[in-house]
Formats: sequence, structure tokens, C-alpha cells
Amino acid sequence: MTDPRGALPSMTALLRDPAIGERVAAAGRGRVVAALRATLGEARTPSASGPVADHDDIVTETLATLDAEDRARSTRLLNGTGVVLHTNLGRAPLSEAAVAAMVAAAGASNVEYDLTDGRRGGRGGTASAWLARLCGADDAIAVNNGAGALMLAVAALATGRKVVVSRGELVEIGGSFRLPEILQAAGAVLHEVGTTNRTHVADYERAIEDMTGALLRVHASNYRIEGFVAAPTDLDLAEVAAAAGVPFVYDLGSGLLAPSDHPALRDEPDATSALQADADLVVFSGDKLLGGPQAGVIAGDARLVERCRRHPLARALRVDKARLAALEATLDAYLRDDRSALPAWAQLEAEPRALQLRAKALADTLDLEVVPTTSVPGGGALPGVTLPSWGLRLPGPPDDLAAAFRRADPPVVGRVDEGAFVLDLRSVPPADDDALHDAVAAVLGRGPSRAEGSGPSRRDDHDLQDRA
Ligand SMILES: *Cc1c(COP(=O)(O)O)cnc(C)c1O
Repeated sequence: MTDPRGALPSMTALLRDPAIGERVAAAGRGRVVAALRATLGEARTPSASGPVADHDDIVTETLATLDAEDRARSTRLLNGTGVVLHTNLGRAPLSEAAVAAMVAAAGASNVEYDLTDGRRGGRGGTASAWLARLCGADDAIAVNNGAGALMLAVAALATGRKVVVSRGELVEIGGSFRLPEILQAAGAVLHEVGTTNRTHVADYERAIEDMTGALLRVHASNYRIEGFVAAPTDLDLAEVAAAAGVPFVYDLGSGLLAPSDHPALRDEPDATSALQADADLVVFSGDKLLGGPQAGVIAGDARLVERCRRHPLARALRVDKARLAALEATLDAYLRDDRSALPAWAQLEAEPRALQLRAKALADTLDLEVVPTTSVPGGGALPGVTLPSWGLRLPGPPDDLAAAFRRADPPVVGRVDEGAFVLDLRSVPPADDDALHDAVAAVLGRGPSRAEGSGPSRRDDHDLQDRA
């Protein structure tokens, strides 16, 4: 028997194939040749299973590889999961103003140029001033992300020193952020105190010594310890730290700037209150409850913020011009007291009834069922908090539907609830309802059945007309 692997088509022959030629014109020769080489390489390996590939197999396989590469590129999608700040789906959706600001700053911009006197200017000055004002801090600085902000604060205040943290607060925020490792990478030594469920003022007092660089509190943003628990108040910790002459740093996680009257946010710590309780520095993310772009903020005592600003890591962690512009636009909404201009807040605060109406309007034209759902804030924030919502339940095997919706244009991500594929309206901006309608119609192969009068439409138990 001859080894059929010897019969693989040549690169020259493959490049002459019309389908490959078309792809070369669209995607560039380099990408296509690399994909062909990879396919040929796989066909040549002795472990290759099945019958050996001929010319057409190689072409089909290569085009599939290139298609898969294209699908992996960054793209807009519709978030029907009901998780408002979904880390895998980009956390906070940006406001129109923030998007416009990013676009405006994308070319040449005044990121480090002072338009008043035509000289070099400080990067991020506006964001610093506005962040400080909004959380009642002396000064603030924005860096790449929350993890970067914490790392910078620890590196600036406590390199080669101990950082005292309660054992109840040694958090992991999604795989790559583990508090002990962040402290180690920042050059500090973790000094654990107390126990998982109970830590007392005396534990902190006993731990502080000459080599202590900071006292750190970390908000348990993605878990909850309940039952026999105890932890000192922020004021207690500030007192212990002040008495020992050690800075008190508070990693808040979510970026709530001031106390909120939203019932879901009653237990969420905020930057203003933490600083009022005499935390020296607070640290938080820009793309969680703040509702802005990916960023990390350090705010508080002017002298300590300045130490962070001058640290070499600050340069390594700096924010790019487009995100700075988006952060300014986000903060501007707070300064104008117009938090609802931020989609993340509009979604968190959306009334269930408004979501029900939107779901109903979509369901009626698509002949679908409306179902009550439970959405969550997400983004590693507010564990245990749920928000009543409404969605569309789709008929059919949920896994097949999920795969079909991932292939839609734009892709739609939903979730499986009680064995059914559901699209939750809370995490979809109302402006995207038409796009969602079209995606559902395309996946189900249904037009606007109601408008065409084709067939009866299923009515749910919560007919709004009856109540209005
Ligand atoms: C989310 C979070 C972080 C990490 O912030 P990123 O912006 O994701 O880097 C750090 N600490 C806490 C308490 C968090 O909740």
C-alpha cells in the first residue's frame, strides 16, 4: 500500500484554486498561505485521523480555519444573558457620549498637550480632578484597570514591607486576580490576620509593626460570608492605621462613587463613604458600577496619590487617550447628575414593567413566549443580589439555539433557564431591540408573523393590555 500522505496537493496548486484566490483577495496572501500551511501540516502528521485529505478537503478545511479566525475577532454582540456587567462580554457598555469621545480622541488629540498655552500638558488631568471631586478626595489617578491600581498603590506604599489583610478578604476575582499574588508581584509581603469568618481590631493592632507598609481592606465583591462573622468597621480600621502611622488602603472593587438609594446597592461600599471614614486611599474599577471604560482608580490623600503618580509602574499602567476620553465623558454624566445616561445604570435601574413591555412587543411580532426572569448586576459585584426581569423563551433544544445565536449577525448570547434558551431584555439596550428582533427572526426562520397575519400568536399570562 502506498502512503497516500505523499499525494497531498502542492501549495502552488492550492493557491491556483478559485476559492482560495478569492480569499487571498479579501484577507491577504500572508494569512491564507499560513492557514494552508497549517492545514497541510496537520494532514501530513501521522496522527491525522480519517482518510487523507485531497485538494478539496484542504481547501474546505483552510477556509473554515480562516472563518473561525474571523469570528474570533472583536465584534459587537447582543448581551441577552441578563448579566449587566458581564466580564466575558466587556463589562459596562459605554454611553453614547463616551463612545463619541473615544472616536474623537482616536486621531491626534490633546492627551498630553495644553491647548491654552500650547505646551506639553499633564496626561489625565481632567479625569483626576473630576474623580477627586466625585468621591470627595484630595486627588486621584486613573490607570489601566482595578488590578493595576491596587498593584500600583501597594508598590508605591509598601514595597519590601508587610501589607496587613484579613483572612476573610483574600479574594480571587476570576482566575488571574488573586490577592496574595498581586501583593507579591507588587513586591510586598502579605501578612494575614484573623480567620475566614471573624477578624477583630486587636488582630490588626497586634499585626502592625515596623515593617508594615499598609493596612489593606478588600471588598468581598464576588462572595459573601454569612453566619458567625465579625469585622471591624472602616472607622475602626482607619483609627488603628492612623495610630500606627500606616496608610489604610481600601480596594472597593466596583466603583460606586457615592451611597446609592438603589435597594440592590444597600450593602455596596462606596468611595465617598470610605474616604469620609478616613481611608487614606480607595481603589476601584472603571468598568463595573462606575459604568465607564476599563480603568482602575486610586483616590484619596494628595501626598499618597502623588507617590503613586511618580512611581515607575504608573507609566507602565497608564491609560490610552481613547479610554481617558471615555472616562471623562462617563464622569461628566455624574457631574451633570445624569447617571441614567450611562447604559449600565439604565440597565440596572430599568423597571421590570418596562422590560416586560419590550419583551412583549418582540414576542408578539415573533410569535414567542414572554417569561419572567432573574437578572444579576454581575462584574464580580453584588453577590446574592438579583433583579427581576423579563425575557423571551425560545422553543427548541437550548444548546442548538445557543450555537445558532452565536453565529447570528450580530451574535446574540443568551442563557439557559429551566431547560429553555432565554433572552433576557435587561442587558440589551432598548436601541438594540430591532437588531434582536432580526436576529431571532433569522435564527428561527420567522418573519414578523403578526404583521402578516400568518397563524395565531401565543399569548402569555401577563397580557399588559388587560392591566393597562
Ligand atoms: C474587580 C475587582 C478587582 C479587579 O479589577 P479589574 O478592573 O478587573 O482589574 C480588584 N479588586 C476587587 C475587590 C474587585 O472586585
